[in-house]
Amino acid sequence: MSRFVFSPPASPGVAIAGSSERFPVHRIYCVGLNYADHIREMGSAPTPPVFFMKPADAVVANGAAVPYPPATANFHYEIELVVAIARAGRDIAPARALEHVFGYAVGNDLTRRDLQAAAKERGQPWDVAKGFDFSAPVAALRPASAGHVSRGRIWLKVNGELRQDSDVSHMLWDVPHIIAALSGFYELVPGDLIFSGTPSGVGAVKPGDALEGGIDGLEVLRNTIAPRAAAAV
Ligand code: MN
Repeated sequence: MSRFVFSPPASPGVAIAGSSERFPVHRIYCVGLNYADHIREMGSAPTPPVFFMKPADAVVANGAAVPYPPATANFHYEIELVVAIARAGRDIAPARALEHVFGYAVGNDLTRRDLQAAAKERGQPWDVAKGFDFSAPVAALRPASAGHVSRGRIWLKVNGELRQDSDVSHMLWDVPHIIAALSGFYELVPGDLIFSGTPSGVGAVKPGDALEGGIDGLEVLRNTIAPRAAAAV
């Protein structure tokens, strides 16, 4: 058996509420434009689910500092319900979709909004706007055995001030329909995470800001924004 030329990168993982075990992350899928009020604030029109990805190693633990990313002057938060997948499937029917869910968590789809706006204007992909280092803070997953999430307040505060305040039931594409649509493009496998979209109220943060976000019944996600990392030598 051949060996790797150097040690493989560490496997990214997410905490599980009430457990010392961790959920290993395979891929991070995201849904864009899934709340009508956010679609309006972005000046967009309702569409079928817009999917994009972040790298698995973009996950950031609850409580950890997020370094202000390079190449942006408009760094935004987006509080979202995150769905974790426990069972593989393709072309999953909405009526069977919840059988594939491991659990739920609060996540933040951090976004370089200026790069996203430029990409949209040029008809280019969103990768640099969405899929950068430290772009996916996720709190502990609550196993689906404690209940599925189809409603409940979703909110985010910056330095204690309420900025986003909606309800998960306002999603245009609910969790079963997101899983059904996504599994028509990709085979979902255990370890996949799905960020399900953000309500209105998105905005910019700066180094020193404290972010706090929640969804009823799930662990509150708290992260601070750290100064921009020093240039690599
Ligand atoms: Mn988002």
